[in-house]
Order: sequence, then C-alpha cells, then structure tokens
Amino acid sequence: ARTLAAGNWKMNGDAGLMDELATLAAHQGEDGPDVLICPPATMLAQAVAATKDSRVAVGGQDCHAAASGAHTGDVSAAMIRDTGASAVIVGHSERRADHHESNADIRAKAQAAWAAGLLPILCIGESEAERMGPDTLDIIAAQLDASVPDGATGETLVIAYEPIWAIGTGRVPTLEQIVETHDMIRARLVARFGDEGDKIRILYGGSVKPTNAAEIFTAKNVDGALVGGASLKASDFQPIIDALA
Ligand code: 13P
Repeated sequence: ARTLAAGNWKMNGDAGLMDELATLAAHQGEDGPDVLICPPATMLAQAVAATKDSRVAVGGQDCHAAASGAHTGDVSAAMIRDTGASAVIVGHSERRADHHESNADIRAKAQAAWAAGLLPILCIGESEAERMGPDTLDIIAAQLDASVPDGATGETLVIAYEPIWAIGTGRVPTLEQIVETHDMIRARLVARFGDEGDKIRILYGGSVKPTNAAEIFTAKNVDGALVGGASLKASDFQPIIDALA
C-alpha cells in the first residue's frame, strides 16, 4: 500500500500556517508518500488553493453524519468535498471526548464521507487506563469493529491508531506495543474484508516527531502517520514525510 503522511492541524490555523502549507506543497517531489493536511473547516478552501497542482491533498477534521439540515454549527461531508478537499478525519479521540461521539456515530460519519466521495481517516485508540489494563487489544478491536462500516476497501478507508495518552504528550508506545497493536488491527481487517483488508492503510498517531518517525515506520503494518503538533511547521513535517519515503 502507498504510505501516507497526514497532518491534523486541530483548532490551529492562521495566515502564517498557510505559508507553511505553501512551503510544504512546493517541497514535494514527483513521487513519495501521499501527503494530506487537515486544517480547520474555515480554511479548507484556502488550503485547497494553496496546494493546487501539488501532491499535497486537503481534508477536513470531522463531518456530520447527515447530508444537510438543521444542525447549527456543523459541516457536512458534501460541504467539505465542495471545497475541493478529498478526505476527512472521523472519530478523533478529541471528538469522541469533547462531543461524546460513539462508535455508531463514527460509523455513520464514515458512511457520510463515502456518500460525498471523501476518504475517511477513521481514528481509534485506548486511554491510559485501558493501556495499563489486561484487555488493551480487545478494547481497540471492539472500537475498530464497531466504528468501521461494512464494505470498506483499501481505496476507501484509512485507519489511524492513536493512543489517547500519546497525543500531545511527547510519550509514545514502545515499538513492540505499536507492532502488536497494528498487527492486531491488520489481522482483524483481513478477517473482515479479505484481500482489501490487507490494503487498508493503518497510520500511527500520537507524538510523532522528526526524531522518532523513522523508528515507528520500521513496523510492517505502520503505513504512515497522523501528526498533530509536528504538522504545523513544514520544517517539522517534511522530515516525517521523508522518513516514509
Ligand atoms: P500530536 O502529534 O500533537 O501528538 O497529535 C496527534 C493527533 O492527535 C493527530 O490526530
């Protein structure tokens, strides 16, 4: 599968960040890993313009499950697609926590993304207490099973494994833990989707930095990264992209 370096700007973004994006777009060679940046919804159209004719794709950070309607403040998948974006993050742990999103909600959002022609980057991951307990892999497996809709293929789904305790903390799981978790996710996707399950890309996310990316990418079933803080500067994100190449 093609590798993917995805950046999640979260609730950060201003004109300066658009300059970083333009720098990033200008730096991508003819080939290399897929590169995706997910800015706030208000900046999607600008980000699409800033990356025009480059290999950098643009995605949203969330979408509503419904196509349209009385949902003040929400953004539909079709609206995201309409900006020229091609992907959308669904089920980020910050959405699961801040907006009480359930696995069923996230499954519906992934289906909404498909209906609009967007690639969902679907996030799963355990809390620190869950990592300390004996059932870590079972908990992640249950999240995966319940969040991912039927009919997923290598072309239509990306999974991001993001341990909540590793997000924005500078702490990362051991390579062994990453390998074990990604191998479990792969096995489960193959059991459910057959050959397509083998093609679904599985990203690691949580404190990925230029200093640790290369080691994380040695794991066989790590097909790229979903990067928060280190995606805000081209000089941090580019070495992560390069570590995938
Ligand atoms: P950090 O890379 O800042 O830890 O964030 C990870 C993340 O949540 C990406 O979606």
